[in-house]
Amino acid sequence: MTKQYIAVTYDICEHNNLYEDMNEYVVDVSHDIGKKVEEFARKDVAPLVKVFESNTSDFKSLKLYKEYTFKTYECDCDA
Ligand SMILES: [Zn+2]
Repeated sequence: MTKQYIAVTYDICEHNNLYEDMNEYVVDVSHDIGKKVEEFARKDVAPLVKVFESNTSDFKSLKLYKEYTFKTYECDCDA
């Protein structure tokens, strides 16, 4: 059985105690996952993207696979 991977973009603002998931994308890890994740982050302006692994196609049991942080997309509300 093939594993499924899903990338979730997060919107984070420490100043407002915000830690919210935005969008979910199914990803193919046989391709350059880092590049894909970067695209999702850019699209959603997400400072954090988590990739979860699922052994089932219905994504019911998810396990954290990798975490990517993007400094460029961090909030600048204290700037
Ligand atoms: Zn902020």
